[in-house]
Amino acid sequence: RDDLRGKTAYGAPQLDVPVRLNTNENPYPPSPALVEDLARAVRQGAATLNRYPDRDALDLRKDLADHLGHGLTARQVWAANGSNEVIQQILQAFGGPGRVAMGFEPSYSMHPIIAGVTATRWIDGAREEDFAIDEERAVRVIEEHRPDVVFLTSPNNPTGTALPLRVIERILAAAPGMVVVDEAYAEFARTGTPSALSLLPGNPRLIVTRTMSKAFAMAGTRLGYLAADPAVIDALLLVRLPYHLSTLTQAAARVALAHRTELLGTVDALRAERDATVDWLRQRGLSVADSDANFVLFGKFPDRHAIWEGVLKRGVLIRETGPDGWLRVSIGTGEEMAAFRAALEGVLG
Ligand code: PLP
Repeated sequence: RDDLRGKTAYGAPQLDVPVRLNTNENPYPPSPALVEDLARAVRQGAATLNRYPDRDALDLRKDLADHLGHGLTARQVWAANGSNEVIQQILQAFGGPGRVAMGFEPSYSMHPIIAGVTATRWIDGAREEDFAIDEERAVRVIEEHRPDVVFLTSPNNPTGTALPLRVIERILAAAPGMVVVDEAYAEFARTGTPSALSLLPGNPRLIVTRTMSKAFAMAGTRLGYLAADPAVIDALLLVRLPYHLSTLTQAAARVALAHRTELLGTVDALRAERDATVDWLRQRGLSVADSDANFVLFGKFPDRHAIWEGVLKRGVLIRETGPDGWLRVSIGTGEEMAAFRAALEGVLG
């Protein structure tokens, strides 16, 4: 317990309010037809629940590899309970006591938290004022600390900013250990933004993580995945708990993948809503980070908590995250975004 003192637990408030725009979920629930298919698959799975699930989730990993494309096979793909578990397994395999992990904050808060939980020393490479990563500075910090694992997040949470492939390549060349590109929000990136998946051939130290929690609208399923060299998958096999992915999770994820055209069909509407939100916030004279994700970081407020609370009192839950003075709003339906605008307008006057 002493070792854990001072560490912060993950704590996004789960409040029962009419409009929840605080955890970057997809606001669109599964359609009735998809619910039927999910229920059928879960029922089939339920009939075998006396048995352990497929320990290696081979069918699911094959489906995920097909979905990712880039010529990937099941041997290069791994899945776990949300990308949070994927990240934990990566740090169990490649971090730990005496090892160093590094990220560029502000970024996804669970990277340093899981580093702490796995007793991996954490180094913050820091970002520029505009939330970009300066290549030269990044290389200098990498050369100084020789991290075993570097985390890059693109598009980045909570800033929404995407990372040019050039920067990822530069960091890959400089880093002595693994480089993880967390692409939880890749599907929301502007058309033409390339994925780090294209860098996998010839880069056995690169890991690209994805999730079904965001664009796929399957946060409740808890399914995260990664693509990497088969040797990385072999390392993860050593640290994962046996039978970590339940029969029902595997079944639901495969149904979601079969319906991916329908599920990912919400992405265009969410991107349009995001761009409109960025424009509206800028018109209101606020600072707004460029967003390639399904959320927008905006500020800067002398007392962000007061703004957060005022918006909450009007029935809309957003998130206090990022550097002091900034707030993040996840992109909801058109109606939910109208409620957000009205709430913020009400607070700002
Ligand atoms: N990575 C990033 C950048 C995130 O923002 C999140 C969740 O918000 C995750 C990973 C974890 O998602 P999940 O565990 O639901 O896959």
